[in-house]
Amino acid sequence: MSYMLRTVILEQTWERQLQDIIRLCKTANIEEVLLKELSSHIIPVPFLIDKHYKMAKIYSQMAKAFHEENIVFSINIIMLAGHSDGEVEAKYVLPYQKFVGEDLRELHATYCLLDEAWQAYAAEVCALYAGTRPDKLFIDDDFRSLNHGVQYGCFCPIHVSRTAERCGIALTAETLMHAVSGASTEHMAIKQAWMQINFEGQLEAANRIRLAVERVSPATRLGLMNSGEPAHSFQGRDMDVLLREFSGSRRPLSRPAGCSYSDSIHGELFEIHQVTALSKSVVGEDVQIVSEVENYPHTRFSKSIRITRLQLELHALAGAEDFTLNLYDYLGTPYEQEPDFLHLLIDERERLEMIQAARKGKKLVGFGHPWKKDTALKQLSRRGWLDDIMPNRDPDNYLPQFGIPVQFQLGKANLIFGDAVQCYDDDEVIELLSRGILLDGLAFTNLYNRGFGRYLGCEPAGSGVVDGFTVEQFGFNPFTGPFAGNLQTTNWAESKKQGKLPLQLRIDPGAEAISMLLDDDRNELSPGVVLFENELGGRVAVFTVPISSFQFLHRCRAYMVAKVAQWLMREPLPVWIEDCPNIGPIYYEGANGEGLLGIISGNLDVMEVKLHTDLQLFDLFTGEEIQELRMDPLSVRFFRTQKEVGRAER
Ligand SMILES: [Zn+2]
Repeated sequence: MSYMLRTVILEQTWERQLQDIIRLCKTANIEEVLLKELSSHIIPVPFLIDKHYKMAKIYSQMAKAFHEENIVFSINIIMLAGHSDGEVEAKYVLPYQKFVGEDLRELHATYCLLDEAWQAYAAEVCALYAGTRPDKLFIDDDFRSLNHGVQYGCFCPIHVSRTAERCGIALTAETLMHAVSGASTEHMAIKQAWMQINFEGQLEAANRIRLAVERVSPATRLGLMNSGEPAHSFQGRDMDVLLREFSGSRRPLSRPAGCSYSDSIHGELFEIHQVTALSKSVVGEDVQIVSEVENYPHTRFSKSIRITRLQLELHALAGAEDFTLNLYDYLGTPYEQEPDFLHLLIDERERLEMIQAARKGKKLVGFGHPWKKDTALKQLSRRGWLDDIMPNRDPDNYLPQFGIPVQFQLGKANLIFGDAVQCYDDDEVIELLSRGILLDGLAFTNLYNRGFGRYLGCEPAGSGVVDGFTVEQFGFNPFTGPFAGNLQTTNWAESKKQGKLPLQLRIDPGAEAISMLLDDDRNELSPGVVLFENELGGRVAVFTVPISSFQFLHRCRAYMVAKVAQWLMREPLPVWIEDCPNIGPIYYEGANGEGLLGIISGNLDVMEVKLHTDLQLFDLFTGEEIQELRMDPLSVRFFRTQKEVGRAER
């Protein structure tokens, strides 16, 4: 593994910084530097080309010193399109097409990746830096078509005219945005064309950048910092293809989103692993994954050593080969003012290497929550909101928060919510239905409308929704255990606003309702959660109630979902942590049955962990076999596991 120090170089202080960097690298055993030109905390928009010429000259001198010190010299270009824009003076505005977000106004100095003139600028900047012969040249995650201060896009004249041409119709920015957030067949076709055009434009930009770099420095590897699978899906991206367009004949290089830019608690701690792991799962095994450890805006007021340490370890668990470190500020402050990071890096290396070694050759195993890259395309807004199109991966956190391990490949049983089910063709749906499947109301409705009703165990009744005061009551059955009789809110008013009212269903004689929706006088209205075993031999669970943190993150629900998950799988989970809020397993298993188990606590209390597993657990670092487990607040522990036949629960 390598530590890769991402550090901002200022033209006035680079010589002092160079000595500072070398000293830090030697002391903390940092193998590689990724220099970032100038400071986005001084100039928040892409720099004029003459600044890049100056910085490339400085880098050439710094590179010599790094080579002499055996420190790998690489570059992270901080901005090409721009991150979050700024109302800068006209002389700082480059003559390229500005990005247009959902307010349909051009940004001031943030640019559209599809503009060929901008692509030429980006290629020129990259070629300039390639001239300093870096080992790697990382394009930052401002190479994106969304989240530039405005959330969504791009609806600029280039995007509008190319989409119109592709569809053979007339479009304006307004009608394009309306179509992208619409739900009709025609809208879907326009949305698809818009996403395709966007991705084609990104590939073209990547191609031009690569050719420019290859001409100057064929040995330099081009990598991309990126922003999470839902955002990639929204941009029509195929990440594996895009990374290979950048890398050409060399090994693809990706820095997925690392989350936790400030301190994390509760589900956010799981997100640190899940987001990186999901991004790793969608690209080839040969792609080099380097993690993002970033303490934005680089102040100890918002990010602690403790969470930075957890982040490093969770990224190692997710399969990061190396760690990019964006720990220090963007203003050249001497590193000696933050000695704790230095100590952290020294202390952590051995642990990270042990996690990486134990992780090698293993796959994530648990309840399936598969991902399809065209989710944003298939996801419709019933109220015309762009927000609704951004894929929601909350269950990636909810399930482990409930004590349930998750995998992103198809599992024995799988959770598929909402319009994500529309990413599966009919044959794939039958395959899903013949395993175990956990559906929400919208996914149920989609499948019912596609003619799969006979496999679902229920059908719409009445108006199709329960509109009015409702509460869900857990029934008395093995799925509710100690929580039988509990009431759970359906959050009626808010759910209605979001167009997510509970469904009104009639269940088949062979189906079972394990919870019921009641009115305010406790009269039964409709089933809440329905279980059914279908003629394909598969098992189905339909959660008709809205699913959000407000209604879902409760102990009784955690218990119910874990019990339902194991019923759907027809076998116990490899690991289940019962009734410990925000404490959950991430489990990797190899072909020989040996495993690596990470247990995360996003809880702020010390908790005794009620672990159900057939696995034998050994502390990864001490080798000690574990019988009882206590978790400290905001912590992660790692265990080597092996299968032991006939082992009892503990
Ligand atoms: Zn555009």
